Amino acid sequence: MNENEQPYQPDTEAVRIQTDRTWQMEHSTPMFLTSSFCFDNVEEMRATFADETDFNIYSRFSNPNVDEFVKKVVALEQAEAGYATASGMSAIFASFMALMKAGDHLISARSIFGSTHTVISKFLPKWGISYDYFDVNNPESLLALIKPNTRMIFVETPANPGLEMVDIAWLVEVANKHNIIVNVDNCFATPVLQKPILAGAHLVTHSATKWMDGQGRVLGGIVVGKKELIKEIYTFCRSTGPSMSPFNGWVLSKSLETLYVRMERHSASAFALAKALESHSQLNWVRYPFLESHPQYAIAKKQMTGGGGIFCFELKGGLEQGKRFLDALKMLTLTANLGDSRSIASHPSSTTHAKLTEEERLKSGITPGFIRISVGLENVQDILQDIEQALEASKA
Ligand SMILES: *Cc1c(COP(=O)(O)O)cnc(C)c1O
Repeated sequence: MNENEQPYQPDTEAVRIQTDRTWQMEHSTPMFLTSSFCFDNVEEMRATFADETDFNIYSRFSNPNVDEFVKKVVALEQAEAGYATASGMSAIFASFMALMKAGDHLISARSIFGSTHTVISKFLPKWGISYDYFDVNNPESLLALIKPNTRMIFVETPANPGLEMVDIAWLVEVANKHNIIVNVDNCFATPVLQKPILAGAHLVTHSATKWMDGQGRVLGGIVVGKKELIKEIYTFCRSTGPSMSPFNGWVLSKSLETLYVRMERHSASAFALAKALESHSQLNWVRYPFLESHPQYAIAKKQMTGGGGIFCFELKGGLEQGKRFLDALKMLTLTANLGDSRSIASHPSSTTHAKLTEEERLKSGITPGFIRISVGLENVQDILQDIEQALEASKA
């Protein structure tokens, strides 16, 4: 918010929201690498501990660098409030733990990030929170899963790795009838391309590690949404300690200054590559939110302003060609991250999802020849050439 309290355009807010200048008159926000903050006198300290001021106390609770990052994401998502955490997983975990209790029920899309699946299926039941998965390709199946104790619906849209999408406005309409919290992992789209809060979502979670950082340097996470829900999450995190480090907050706030231009380039390149490869003879299909052949193309057009930087395809030669394809790549990197300035290829069947059974993989849309590409900022012709030469070299 600028001095007139009139919000600027979001791409301006991402650049201009800034911690108050110190007496050094710096232009770029300095790093506040301090674990605690000082008080002039006992009365000021008392008032701060009593929540009568908004001064910082201790960096587990708040820190200027972390706050700057939070303010930007809150502005970009058009949310009421937010809290940043050490990683995307701690943001998601805190949103579950702060708002659900033993006896509650969670409904989640089946197509979700692997560690989120582990939290839901392995840990939540240990604490008496039950769950059901619904198939995002048949979203109406969710209606039959709603119970009197259903407290939250969690989705990822577009989902990792298969890019399945859910109509957020529809989900909110269903959830609001039953007083259920809608929690959307907006990691793949970023607020640049999709704003779930505007469609009525109550909470939005992010792994800031991915597109927000955009250069594969630091881990981070954030939850934004309704003030009263964020207050619970803050209270939980302040005591349990999954706080974002001031250093990471500083890096991530700087990263947001370039998020708009980066997402434009990532999306344009990914879309161009998806189109260029769509009819390639080595591929069964190519999937990208803005390709008309995507089963949920209409949803993408409705709630996203760009398709994002990820596309995927299926190799005709299955598991073995998948391994050969990765080995044949010369520029694209084999690494567990995504959302980097450098393009990354992954083959879930032989790596990240190798421990699942074939049936579990298929339920998550991961076929043996499934390849996910995170499109970087390199020249799009160089990315295309590398993929094409690796397809040729890995031919059955
Ligand atoms: C990576 C990722 C996460 C987890 O984030 P971390 O920062 O690695 O903890 C959650 N959701 C999605 C969609 C992701 O891609």
